[in-house]
Amino acid sequence: MSNNIPYKTYLSEDEIPSKWYNVRADMKNKPAPLISPATGKPLTLEDLNPIFCEELNKMELDNDTKWFDIPEEVLSFYKMYRPSPLTRAYFLEKALGTPAHIYYKFEGNNTSGSHKLNSAIAQAYCAKKQGLKGVTTETGAGQWGTALSMATAFLGLDCKVYMVKCSYEQKPFRREVMRTYGASVTPSPSDTTEVGRKILAEHPGTTGSLGCAISEAVEAAVTNDGYRYVLGSVLNQVLIHQTIIGLETQAALKKLGVKADMIIGCAGGGSNLGGLATPFIGEMLRGEADYKIIAVEPASCPSFTRGKFAYDYCDTGRICPLAKMYTLGSQFIPSANHAGGLRFHGMSPILSQLYHDGLFEARAVEQTSVFEAATLFARTEGILPAPESSHAIRATIDEALKCKETGEAKNIVMGLTGTGYFDLVAYEKFNSKTMSDQLPTDEELNEYLSRLPKVD
Ligand SMILES: *Cc1c(COP(=O)(O)O)cnc(C)c1O
Repeated sequence: MSNNIPYKTYLSEDEIPSKWYNVRADMKNKPAPLISPATGKPLTLEDLNPIFCEELNKMELDNDTKWFDIPEEVLSFYKMYRPSPLTRAYFLEKALGTPAHIYYKFEGNNTSGSHKLNSAIAQAYCAKKQGLKGVTTETGAGQWGTALSMATAFLGLDCKVYMVKCSYEQKPFRREVMRTYGASVTPSPSDTTEVGRKILAEHPGTTGSLGCAISEAVEAAVTNDGYRYVLGSVLNQVLIHQTIIGLETQAALKKLGVKADMIIGCAGGGSNLGGLATPFIGEMLRGEADYKIIAVEPASCPSFTRGKFAYDYCDTGRICPLAKMYTLGSQFIPSANHAGGLRFHGMSPILSQLYHDGLFEARAVEQTSVFEAATLFARTEGILPAPESSHAIRATIDEALKCKETGEAKNIVMGLTGTGYFDLVAYEKFNSKTMSDQLPTDEELNEYLSRLPKVD
């Protein structure tokens, strides 16, 4: 052990932050407002309230409040699985022979296996406080649906999950975790909604898509009395809830007397990276410190690195609001052989604006190299990482190897968002060498990007 830094740094329960941070309050250039697909005008609370929970809508539209108190009930739920440890990756450092000091913040230490529970409990709490009966949502791979079902079970709310049909059939284990926590899980498209029946009539035998599951979940929320729709990433409120990750990391680093040089996280819709990095970006915006921050995305779904900063729909079905974000086009679907998650076509509007303003960089990595990194991490640090998290591992290893060349002992902090126990089909492809890298061509991307909605 060097520098007397322990393998694991835990905060005490009393040191769990009691507020969430809203980076928009420190941003000079605020993210552009969400736009209603119906009116073409900025969304108001009145537009949002029939679909989403009221408290959450206020948070969504609030560019000015810097700190939000974490409700006592949410804080006590957090104490079931938080604070999450900040671990020094001594074994990985040794395997790489790097002088860099690598730290990772592990968010997979709960049954849902990812950071998504941090927002699920906050959203379920708001639904409960509003006196609702339940919530509806969609889930693709299943992490969000699992997290939400845990949160609603805890608070005694009903939870209706529309799960993309091919995942419903191929991932029976996640489905059963959700059902164990009391959620009803419907394969989408289904005959339980009008939009589902329409899609089934037009495309018999379809295995579904996230866009279609969103449409069904929204319809179920607005047509069932006492229900609202909730979403697990991209939205400003989700990013705010996830700042518990970055605030805990800051507190742990402070305890250790360590100043981070680099912060690295994977980016799908941007919630974990935003949660980890925005408290640090806030320091940068206030001129208090400087960090190199890297968003890591899949080369097969490269929103930041090859997308356009423009207004676009958040869903394939084009019923959700339009957001100004880095996007590949709402009709973009990553290649079928992409196994590593992070498949959303757009990106958090907050992170998009910050990236546009040069506060962090982004890089795209190919999935075979991601699984190589995952394997090395599993063998050295013991944790079987989620494919999504492994994008951050890839970039962390690459940065640590650069330090080996330059001899610099940089402090690298990485977000390890979850575990990969339900992703063994992807690991199987990697292990049996049937995994390949298929990147979208410029022509393909231009085709989708040429179809972006016109908004002025
Ligand atoms: C959902 C998920 C992600 C990506 O979502 P973000 O909103 O970009 O954080 C990353 N890792 C894991 C384990 C996930 O479940």
